[in-house]
Amino acid sequence: MAKKFKATTAGSLPKYGWLAETETLWPKWKVPENELWEKQKESAMLWIEEQEKSGLEIISEGEQFRIHFVHGFLKKIKGIDWNKKTKMGIRNDRYTVEVPTVVDVVSREESIHLKEAQVLREHTEQLTKFTLPGPMTITDTIANDFYSSKQEMAMHFAQLLNAEANELSQAGIDIIQFDEPAFNSFTNESVEWGIEALEIAIKNLDCKTAVHICYGYGIDENLRWKDSLGNQWNEYKTLFPALNNSNIDQVSLEFAGSKVPAELMRLLPNKEIMVGVITVVADHIETPEEVKLNIAEALKHVSKDQFIACSNCGMAPIPIETAKLKIKALGEGTKMANTVFLD
Ligand code: ZN
Repeated sequence: MAKKFKATTAGSLPKYGWLAETETLWPKWKVPENELWEKQKESAMLWIEEQEKSGLEIISEGEQFRIHFVHGFLKKIKGIDWNKKTKMGIRNDRYTVEVPTVVDVVSREESIHLKEAQVLREHTEQLTKFTLPGPMTITDTIANDFYSSKQEMAMHFAQLLNAEANELSQAGIDIIQFDEPAFNSFTNESVEWGIEALEIAIKNLDCKTAVHICYGYGIDENLRWKDSLGNQWNEYKTLFPALNNSNIDQVSLEFAGSKVPAELMRLLPNKEIMVGVITVVADHIETPEEVKLNIAEALKHVSKDQFIACSNCGMAPIPIETAKLKIKALGEGTKMANTVFLD
């Protein structure tokens, strides 16, 4: 009998309305500073319970302790001037945001997410996954007024990420996932140096490592961008052969409801694949049957041993009840697939 399929999410989950503003990508906390940690912890624990209840077997803390997946990591990094805001088009000008600016050598003098990882580790018996931004995506979400190039800056951030990841791994986290949505915006640069930076970030870790590459949250800017990509989204075609030759263990990709040709998954024969079998758009809640069909489609191209069911991307900006129903469908659909496809 093949091993049972596991289900997980890409990482972020919506924040409760009592913790932060909802349905927005850069929410403000609603809790005073001195109560923030306890409330974030409460929210994370509710999501851990929700994931377990839905049958997920790789559990995250839902990124409840950070406002945004990139800036949550950057906030304790030295060498960044948060008052020097630069307006910058990110993900190849898909959206414009005000970002802080690197003005000196970047360094990490203390753990950033360790306490959060400990909360996760202490509150579930299941496998745990913790997400960090990938080095290339960091350099695409911060302005550079110090290093000679984005590439040089990425290599420096990669070393800081490696030190952080090592601490999280020592705290018992099973999978560290680096989020690299920028890979899809800069496919050539990713192959030229993005994967090299990722290799620095994962070097000598004791846990499994993953990279998440998607077409972005289900927000208008991304939906418009997706519309412009034509009938076949072929970005993965450039990336996957290089990733297949890398030391990363798992690749998380977007598939459900997308125009990604399913056969591109064949380009990752050496990797475990977290296949997006559930979308992150707010206006459609999948049924377990739909999830099962998406799994069936993926299994035409990946082996049962490689397959892990996942969401296409993070769910941070969607309504909380929608996210709960999607996770439930993900868990139930995976369970159905276990009955039908494994014996
Ligand atoms: Zn994503």
